[in-house]
Amino acid sequence: MLSLFALHASNRFVHITEVERGLACNCRCAICGEVVLARQGDKREHHFAHSSNIEPCASNYESDLHRFAKRVILEAGGLVVPMTAAAAQALGVSDDRASSILLACADIKEEIAVDDRRPDLLATTTDGIGVAIEIAYSSFCDMEKRRAYENMQLPALEIDLRAFTPSAFDVTQVKRVVLEDTACKYWLWPERLEGTAMAEQLPTLPPAALAAQRQFLPEEIVTIRGRWISIKELPSGDIAIKAVRFDPEIVSAVRTVARAHYGRYRETHHNWVIPRFRAEAARAQLRAIASAM
Ligand SMILES: [Zn+2]
Repeated sequence: MLSLFALHASNRFVHITEVERGLACNCRCAICGEVVLARQGDKREHHFAHSSNIEPCASNYESDLHRFAKRVILEAGGLVVPMTAAAAQALGVSDDRASSILLACADIKEEIAVDDRRPDLLATTTDGIGVAIEIAYSSFCDMEKRRAYENMQLPALEIDLRAFTPSAFDVTQVKRVVLEDTACKYWLWPERLEGTAMAEQLPTLPPAALAAQRQFLPEEIVTIRGRWISIKELPSGDIAIKAVRFDPEIVSAVRTVARAHYGRYRETHHNWVIPRFRAEAARAQLRAIASAM
C-alpha cells in the first residue's frame, strides 16, 4: 500500500498530513532512508513517494500506527489513563475516587524486554512505578500475556486504536485518543475487580490516612506547545501548578504565571501553590497562554 508515514529530518515519525508538499516535506523513507516527496495532489490518495520514483517500500500500516502512537506518548511525557480501584492500588494511589488520572512519566522507553514480554513502551511514573503500555490495532493481548504481567506484578495498559484505519487516520484525533481519552484504554493487569471481591482485596484505610495519602486531586491539563501543565485543586481550594516534564520554556511560563498570582514554590513537590483567591485568575491565564500558542 502507499506509504502514509515517513521519517522527518528532525527524526520524528510523521504522517503525510503533518508535512509540506513535495520535497519541502524534508523527509526520508522510514524503511530504506531514501529522500521522499509528499504527494498531496487531488487525484490520488496523499502519500509519500521515493524521490527516484522507484516503487514504494513495503510499509506496514499497523506497525506505522504503533510507531506514531509511541511518538505521541514520548513527546507528551505521559497520558491520561482510566483509574480503577485495582489500578490505583498497583500504582500506589490511595485515592481511587478519580475515574482517570494523568500518568506523568519521568522516563519512557521503547521496546524494552521485561522478562519475556516486550511492551511497546515501558514507562516509569514520577512516583517511580513501572507501567507497560501496549498499542493494539489488529492483535490484542490475550490471557497468557495478561498472566505474564500479573506474574511480574507490572501494571499494563492497552490502548485500542482499531478505529483508526488508514483512511480514518487523523493526527488530531489519534493524539486526543492516545493522550486524553480513556474510552479506548483498559488495564490488562490489574484487571477491574467487581463487587465484593474488590472490597476484600483492597486495604481499608481510615479517612484521615486516605486524605494524607491522597495524591490525585481534581486535575486539569493545559497544553502549551505539546507540553503539559498540570493544575490540581487542593482540598483547601488553593491550586498547585507544575510543568509535567522539564522544559525550560514551559517551566518559565509556569513561574511567570505563578508569581503574578502570589504563588509560592514548594521544593518538595516541584510545584507552585496559588492561593485560592487567585486560583481562577491563574487558571484562566494559563488557558489563555495555551490557546494563544
Ligand atoms: Zn524506501
